[in-house]
Amino acid sequence: MTDVTRDWYDHYMMPNYAPAKMIPVRGEGSRMWDQDGREYIDFAGGIAVNALGHAHPRLIAALTEQASKLWHTANVFATEPALRLAKTLTERTFADKVFFSNSGAEANEAALKLARRYAFDHYGEKKDRIIAFESAFHGRTLLTVTAGGQPDYRKGFGPLPGAIEHLPFNDISSLETAIDDRVCAVIVEPVQGEGGVIAADPAFMKAIRALCDKHQALMIVDEVQTGVGRTGRLYAYEWFDITPDIMTTAKGIGGGFPIAATLSTSGVAESLKVGTHGSTWGGNPIGCAVASVVLDIVDEPTFLQGVIERRQIFEEGLMAIAERYGVFKEVRGKGLLIGCALAEDWHGKARDFLQAAQNEGVFILVAGASVLRFAPSLIIPSEDILEGLNRLDRAVASVCASADAQTEKRAAAV
Ligand SMILES: *Cc1c(COP(=O)(O)O)cnc(C)c1O
Repeated sequence: MTDVTRDWYDHYMMPNYAPAKMIPVRGEGSRMWDQDGREYIDFAGGIAVNALGHAHPRLIAALTEQASKLWHTANVFATEPALRLAKTLTERTFADKVFFSNSGAEANEAALKLARRYAFDHYGEKKDRIIAFESAFHGRTLLTVTAGGQPDYRKGFGPLPGAIEHLPFNDISSLETAIDDRVCAVIVEPVQGEGGVIAADPAFMKAIRALCDKHQALMIVDEVQTGVGRTGRLYAYEWFDITPDIMTTAKGIGGGFPIAATLSTSGVAESLKVGTHGSTWGGNPIGCAVASVVLDIVDEPTFLQGVIERRQIFEEGLMAIAERYGVFKEVRGKGLLIGCALAEDWHGKARDFLQAAQNEGVFILVAGASVLRFAPSLIIPSEDILEGLNRLDRAVASVCASADAQTEKRAAAV
């Protein structure tokens, strides 16, 4: 038994989140249980973090083995797990060099600082403009939240870092107009996650690459959410037939352990000379040991094919729900980063569906007020997908029923 209750949140925690009324205490694979022993199917995956579900035996083994050897050294020493992971990451991506940190925001912060510093080193201090996109999400530090394209998230936190502009996503002509030789970097998500699960057009990604080349700007691809198999490729940039200059990875790479990395070509990496940047916990041996096992498991053709197959099951089930209730107008995204855009009548109501889903025993996410988002474990068994979709079906039915009841009440009142 435990004396911890949900009230404690309101007593002791800063009020920046509004967590569910129940407290989850255990997870296994794609199932979770709360304090009362109630079971849930996890379609949220800790926001695209638990790439291999909960309590994966190989991750537990890697974690406990490293925990009994060496926990932490900071960057005063190189450690075996960090070196091993860096080697693997460079062998399996475009990149030559790796900088480790602990979260997506830190990885992007390092990427943006590196791009500015590279421009400063090679072209002088006037080349400082950063181009980002509307609805983008890059994190919550002051620099990354300014790069993000959601003005609400930076409201009231000024003064903000300067020379960062936002252009419409997937709009090549506005990029052609805006970019010039003073731009040092363009930062883009291959699939906008928080911004509504919207995939970049291949032509758009290619145009960014070409315009960056033309103006000696660096292309930063933010793969914090799309990386590590999430879209059916190890990294989503592989879908677009382009090579970034800098890429960031976080969420999925630790399988639930907080670890992140900024990757780049060797020419760009040279600008992060001794003393220019750092992180106390970056490259923590436990995190790196776990992440190496995650990458080993994920970066296999059959594994990645499994992601595509699972998407198929999801898509069919979600389309069936869409047809039955008319609540979704589009199922989108890539691989197991899935968005369901709500139909016009349901705009602004995504949280109602999330709450109803929880009541029925399935955890989902939202991406803004009008999109449901799913980011389950990449190895979720098909029976868990089907059972979760059954529960979601019931949740959608209950939201529709309560909306009907309200309409009838209104009609009766007239
Ligand atoms: C989640 C996310 C971030 C921020 O990651 P944190 O670990 O929360 O700092 C940055 N970029 C993208 C694309 C994300 O999805």
